[in-house]
Parts: sequence; C-alpha cells; structure tokens
Amino acid sequence: MSGNYGHRLEFGTLVTPVNASPDTPVALARRSEALGYDLVTFVDDPDQPAHLDTWTLLAWVAGRTDRIHLAANVLTVPLRSPAVIARSAASLDLLSGGRLELALGTGGRDPDGLAAVAARGGARLDPRAAVDALGESIDVVRAVLDAGDPDPVRYDGEHHRLDGAPRGPLPAHHIPIWLGGTDPRLLRLVGAKADGWLATLDPADPDAVRTSNKIIDEAARAAGRDPAEIRRLLNVSGRFSATRQGFLNGPAAGWVEDLLPLVVENGVGTIILTTDDVATMERFAREVAPALREAADRALPAPLPRTAQRGVAVRAKRRPGIAYDEVPASLADRAVEPGDVDYARVKSNYLRGGAPGLVLRPRTPAEVADALTFARAHRHLPLGIRSGGHGISGRSTNDGGIVIDVGGINGIEVLDEDARLVRIGPGARWMDVAAALAPHGWALTSGDYGGVGVGGLATAGGVGWLARKHGLTIDHLRAVEMVLADGRVVRASETENADLFWAVRGAGANFGVVTAFEFEVDEVGPVGWAQFALDAGDPAGLLTRWGAAVEAAPRDLTSAMIMGPPRLGQPAVAQVMAMVDSDDPATIVAQLQPVADVAPGYDQQVVITSYASVMANASDAPHQAQGEPISRTGLIEHLTPEFAAAAARLLASGVVYFFHIRSIGGAVTDIDPDAMAWSHRNANFHVTAFGRHRARLDALWDGLLAEHLRGTYLSFETDLRPERLAEAFPPRTLARLRTLKERYDPDGLFRDNFAITPDTASRTTP
Ligand SMILES: Cc1cc2nc3c(=O)[nH]c(=O)nc-3n(C[C@H](O)[C@H](O)[C@H](O)COP(=O)(O)OP(=O)(O)OC[C@H]3O[C@@H](n4cnc5c(N)ncnc54)[C@H](O)[C@@H]3O)c2cc1C
Repeated sequence: MSGNYGHRLEFGTLVTPVNASPDTPVALARRSEALGYDLVTFVDDPDQPAHLDTWTLLAWVAGRTDRIHLAANVLTVPLRSPAVIARSAASLDLLSGGRLELALGTGGRDPDGLAAVAARGGARLDPRAAVDALGESIDVVRAVLDAGDPDPVRYDGEHHRLDGAPRGPLPAHHIPIWLGGTDPRLLRLVGAKADGWLATLDPADPDAVRTSNKIIDEAARAAGRDPAEIRRLLNVSGRFSATRQGFLNGPAAGWVEDLLPLVVENGVGTIILTTDDVATMERFAREVAPALREAADRALPAPLPRTAQRGVAVRAKRRPGIAYDEVPASLADRAVEPGDVDYARVKSNYLRGGAPGLVLRPRTPAEVADALTFARAHRHLPLGIRSGGHGISGRSTNDGGIVIDVGGINGIEVLDEDARLVRIGPGARWMDVAAALAPHGWALTSGDYGGVGVGGLATAGGVGWLARKHGLTIDHLRAVEMVLADGRVVRASETENADLFWAVRGAGANFGVVTAFEFEVDEVGPVGWAQFALDAGDPAGLLTRWGAAVEAAPRDLTSAMIMGPPRLGQPAVAQVMAMVDSDDPATIVAQLQPVADVAPGYDQQVVITSYASVMANASDAPHQAQGEPISRTGLIEHLTPEFAAAAARLLASGVVYFFHIRSIGGAVTDIDPDAMAWSHRNANFHVTAFGRHRARLDALWDGLLAEHLRGTYLSFETDLRPERLAEAFPPRTLARLRTLKERYDPDGLFRDNFAITPDTASRTTP
C-alpha cells in the first residue's frame, strides 16, 4: 500500500479545447477559477482537427484569468523542441504571475499521427526510444529554466543536443514537470526525474494507481529520491445522479466515498475532473471537493497541508533557525526560499548582495500582519522590510534572515480628483507613479531615479527634482495605513494617531510597515530638463560657484551635481542636471544660464519634457547586486569655500568613485522643523560620497567633510553606527522618536535599518 504522500489536496478540471466555439473552453476555464479549482487543464491532441492549439489557448486563458494554475493535459513533447518548451513555459509563467505547470507526454498513440511522426524528423520512435527522448527533454527543459546559472546550456544526448543555448527567462515560480502516461518505462522515468505523475483513472481498474505508484516509488528510491516528492495527479470523470449506480456515478456523497481511498491509500494529490459540463463542474466544486478534503483529514493520521510542499532539493537549502513549515498559510504560496527558482529575483537589493533565509510576499495589510507574527517568532534573525529594493543601506535584504517584501502592494489610485489626493502602495516605483499622475497634469516630487520604491523613500524623506519648488515627498503625505509591530493595522494622519504620523515622516522604517500612502500631489505641466558636462578642473571653485548659483535661483529650479575621481590623462568633468518647473522656454533658459555659467562646458542638452519622462530612467531587471555598498552622507546649508576645498581633497584622494550633491532648500525650508521627524529644514544641499573601501572613506569623510555638515539624511547612509542616527535627528526629535518607539515597537522588531532605541524610562506601569 503506497499510502498518502502528504501533498496539499488540489482539484482541477480537464476541458476540451474545441475550436468550433473557441470561447467555450475559455469560459469553462474562467468558471473553474470562479468555482475555486486550483488548476485548469486542456487536452493537447495535435491530431484532432476540432481542437484549438493547446499552447496558444493556455496563453489566452492566462490573460483571461487571475488565480488559477494552467497546464496542458498533457503536452505532446515530440512536436516541440524542449528548449523552446522551456522558453515558452518560462515566458507564460512570467506573464501569468507564476501559474503555468508543465505536464509532458510522448504524444498520441496513433503511429501515423502528427506527434509520432514529428518525433525525430519523421522517423517513428519505438516506445522505449520515445520515453528516453522524454527523459532527455526533461533535462533540457530544466537546464533552460535554470536561468540563475550564468553558463549557456550544453547537452549531448542521443535525442537532443544543445551547444551553448541561452537559458531563461527566469520563470516566476518553480514550474513542476509532471509526466503523463502508464507505460512502465514512463513510470520509472517519473520516479527517476519528474515532479509528478498524471494519469487517467480507469474506472474498471482503480487498482492501477496502486500498481503504478509501486513502480514509481521503487524507481524514485533507486534514484535516491523520496517518493513523497512526486505528486500524483488523476483525471477522473463521472456522473452525478440521485442514486448510487456505480463508481463515480451517483450522489456527491458516493463520489467522496469512491475518491477517498485514492487519496488516503493511493496518495493521489490532485484530482482533475474531466468535463465540459458546467453543472458537473459546479456540483463537484461545491459538494465533492470540500467533503473529500474533510474526509481525508479525518481518515489520515494528520490533516493534509493547506499549502504547497517543497521538494528535498529545495528543503536542503533552507537556512537554520527558520520554522519554514510554520509560515502562515496566507503567505506560504508566495514565500521564496533559497532553493526556489525565483530566489535569484528577490535575494539582493539594488546595491547590496543578500542571501535571506526566507522572503515573505504579503499582498494585503492582513497578510503583512501575518508576516509580522512570523517575524516576531524569529527575533533571533535579521528582519528586512522591502518595497522597491533600492535602500542604500541595503537592509531590505540580509543574510539568513527574513525579508517581508511588500513590492506586490503597488496600486496607484486617485482618491479625490479635486483635492488631488492619491493613494499609492509601497511597492509602486516612482517612475510608475510619475507615469500614472502625468495624464492628470500632476506630479509628486520624489527622488531622481524611477526605479526607487515608494515604501522606502516616502518613510524617509524624498529629495527630488522638484524639491525646491514643491518640498520633500513626505511634505505631501496626508495619511498612511500601516501595520505595527504587534500586528495592528492603523491609519495615521494629522487627526488619527498624529504622533505616529509625525514619526513616519522621516523615521517610518522604525515604526511599522506602511501598506498605503495618501499624498496630495501638485499640478505640474511640462518642465525644463537640462544636462551639462562642465569642466571640473577646479572642483572647489566649481562647487562654490554652483552652490551660490543654485541658492540664488528661483524655486522653480532644482539641481544636482555628480563628480568622480581623477581620471588619468583626461580632464575632470562634472555632470550637472537641473529641472525647471516651467514650460516657458525663456524662463527655463534664464534660470539655467547662471548654473551653466559656473564653469566652461563640454556638452549641454536642454529639453522641454514631462516630469514622467525624466523619471522613466530605470529598467525592470531584477536586482543582482553583490557585496556591501559603502557610502557617507550629510546635509549642509551653504557650499562654503572651506567645504569645497575639503570636498576637492576628498575627490583627489581617489577613494570616492561617486560624489553627489543635490539641492534642497526652497520649499523644503517652509515647513516647521518640528512638524515631522525629518527636521533639518535649513539645509540647502545634500552631499553623498560612495567609495569602495569602508575604513578609507570613513577616515576621509570624518577628517575632511564632517565638520562642515549639519545633520544627515539616512536614505543615503550605509554606516549603521548610532552616531548617524544622532546626526539624522536633532536631540529633541530623537528623544520624541525614542518615546514613540517605546510606545509602538518596544521590543524593537523593526531594528535593522538605523534602529532607534526605545526610551524605556517613558514606559508606563499598568
Ligand atoms: C539609484 C538610487 C537613486 C536614489 N535617488 C534618490 C533621490 O533622488 N532622492 C531620495 O530621497 N532618495 C533617493 N534614493 C534613496 C532612496 O530613497 C532610499 O534608498 C529608499 O529607501 C529606497 O526605497 P525602496 O522602497 O526602493 O527601498 P527598499 O530597499 O525596499 O527599502 C529601504 C528601507 O526602507 C524601509 N522600508 C521599505 N519599505 C517600507 C515600508 N513599506 N514601510 C516602512 N518601511 C519601509 C526599510 O527599512 C528598508 O530597509 C536613491 C536610491 C538609489 C539606489
């Protein structure tokens, strides 16, 4: 007796892909989804002229459904190159949000059929060779799907050869490979290599499942695998009738009785109902599936899991100290572990290489609360909160800890057109925000890089291209919805949890996970956008002249300058960018001219464009940083000659590869320093230096620049020492933050990114 293999019990449908009414299979797939089935599958019979092409249908159905998983039942492999199957599968998996599964087979039984003849260029394959070829196909599909491996695929099989084929794309989830068929050779192949076995139940011989399982299990053990890794999927069909008339022919209770032994004793993990009849589909979903789940839970020593189980190879890569099997059910399906295929996509952030032990990806505030419950039980590990993954301190990833990635909460919605009030999820990127607001004639001042996420920036500050005209991003914040350390979901605004709202605007990362931001945005039309390459042979002079020109400029203008280390034999060049919030060419030129005049120019470009097009400067590629970013940063009121001389010495050292000064001032200074946690309202500039050597950068920064700086903006800091916190928040502000930390996160759950120490003295005794 094979027994149950401990997989989550799933239900699917098998639909005929008729082409006479092509909408019918699509409607049945949508109905399957609405009824709660886990999977919809379509026959793939290339010899059947009445059928749609299954792969094309899968792609179409993927676009018309949201949740349900999709598969051919089963895909005729000899018709297609396995490398192409892998590419198509990965692409459809990406497009569908991780919903494609691969069920593969050797094709129709007709020896003159398309599939049989297509195999090996028209020559027929005997059944043994067909299974061998399928085995090689699995190797090729898996190799091409393994896009985390940088080397091209080389494969020298009897049936398939690849000589340096490119891999990828990286699918959105681990695409399981199930094999369909009952030939003993195929069953052995299932045991040796596949993730699942898919068969059609012969009602006359329900014992066939047991016999086949035996062959699969033996082959699995022989290959050093645990048979429990292999999911067993069964196509079943039957008739609902008032009285019991035979196997799967009777009332729903009779179906449950018939199917129960298959689940409990023969380990079937997925039951796929073959039907094109909506009434049968509905009745099965409502009366059979839930009753069968309950009956199986009662009959088995322990209830079946409600979430997907990972294979041995994935489990082997688990990190110590994480209760992987206790991940809340609401998060388990989207959680990513080190052995998962999409781990490469989530492990690092933009500037810091990471290797977290578990990435949880909640989609709702309730799921964030679930994730925080799990995190609270793992206080011994680092905890990263990730939105857009651009945090320069890099703490949205870690090594061996937990990451709560809210990147999927990324909606952008207009709440009130007249009040220009918008609600934005933390996972939205600023380029998406700019693009969404542009059609309304609006913009929200953000940062300078479109790939940065809303979550990290809008809890810290937001120094961007419209800063001098429109202030910081947080100056536009009107409310947040956030999940606190204890799991409470709260709103904070000037009138609700006002002290929390004060803290979130500058020190948000210490107080919870923001799941929605409400901003009042500005009317912003076309803008002037300039890029100059200026002679930086006299860096100190350039800095002081540029600083003075920017401070003297009207608020419409915001500018930034980038300088680098000395370049052997080449002139020193500074890159100066500026935005002018005006669509009047004369105004733009008049405001830019003093900035352009601060040094002889090598190149210049001035355009009138939209804020959104300036922000559309990032790619969608996953972050693949390695190592640790090294930076120092600070705020300064004026670029004095003394500061400029110190900066010139810093640059001349060659230790800094990227020296960046942004203008602030203007509207930023209009806000009362006590109005929110971001308090350094008198700063006109923000200075950052990136280096490759921590100690050398620290020594030069502390020795040369620090004395000229007043305060800092933590978004660009990578030095996590407590002194930086004291620079970011003046004493009164820090004291208030510590009191609030004690109130909202007394145990320091949010501690990885510039942790504020709770003021225990303010603890009130009950
Ligand atoms: C290329 C580049 C350009 C930049 N340009 C600018 C700029 O012009 N102006 C500017 O102001 N900043 C800029 N930044 C800095 C940027 O604002 C911060 O790094 C910001 O934290 C990134 O946000 P994120 O959501 O992408 O990052 P993440 O790495 O996802 O998060 C960073 C940190 O923010 C906290 N956090 C994230 N999400 C949440 C949440 N939902 N709730 C509470 N806390 C959260 C966490 O502590 C996390 O470690 C830039 C960064 C980069 C890499």
